[in-house]
Amino acid sequence: MNNNKGTLIVISGPSGVGKGTVVDMLLKRLPGAVLSVSCTTRAPREGEKNGKSYFFISKETFLKMIDEGGFLEYSNHFENYYGTPRFFVEQKLAEGCDVILEIDVDGAKHIRDAFPDALLLMITPPSREELVRRLRLRGTEDEVLIEKRLQRADYEMSRSQFYDYTVINDDLEQTVENILKILENRRKQTK
Ligand code: ADP
Ligand code: 5GP
Repeated sequence: MNNNKGTLIVISGPSGVGKGTVVDMLLKRLPGAVLSVSCTTRAPREGEKNGKSYFFISKETFLKMIDEGGFLEYSNHFENYYGTPRFFVEQKLAEGCDVILEIDVDGAKHIRDAFPDALLLMITPPSREELVRRLRLRGTEDEVLIEKRLQRADYEMSRSQFYDYTVINDDLEQTVENILKILENRRKQTK
């Protein structure tokens, strides 16, 4: 095994819990860490840029990429496909970068099987009421979609025992600090 390989960090958690916000802060504080930009067949939300938030691709292109082995993992929910492009992640890990994947619990399970050393972090809200508040605050989904995401949230959080750590995202700064500490400890263990 290449000892200079970076750490693969998986961040999961219910929609609206603050994953994107936390990851943006982590990237600023972790020199050399990169975010894997996923592909999705869902429509972009207002303000989302192709190639930054996601690669927004058609279902046809997504299915072709599956056939060609282009994804490390993928899953299908909210009637859309989401997947992690293989090439970028493998290349960056080999270069020694830490790679962050912001993916759902089903995808995380595939990653655990393929990369036993991956660090799996589940982010949870301080309460369900707060999760609802954040989803509404973000204002990117209508009430029907919010309801679907809340149903999915229960499933996501029921899988937290498969993760290395569960981090409650109450105070944002504290959450980021906690994750940085977890990473630091992991590095000490694997040195
Ligand atoms: P996700 O990527 O998990 O769907 P977002 O990062 O889009 O979630 O966050 C959803 C909303 O919650 C955003 O408006 C964000 O600013 C807010 N938020 C994130 N973390 C916190 C926190 N610790 N306290 C209060 N609001 C937060
Ligand atoms: P959203 O539509 O809110 O951006 O994302 C919905 C869900 O899809 C979130 O739980 C997010 O973590 C997950 N997701 C985003 N990208 C991927 C991916 O590449 N693979 C998998 N399995 N899930 C993803």
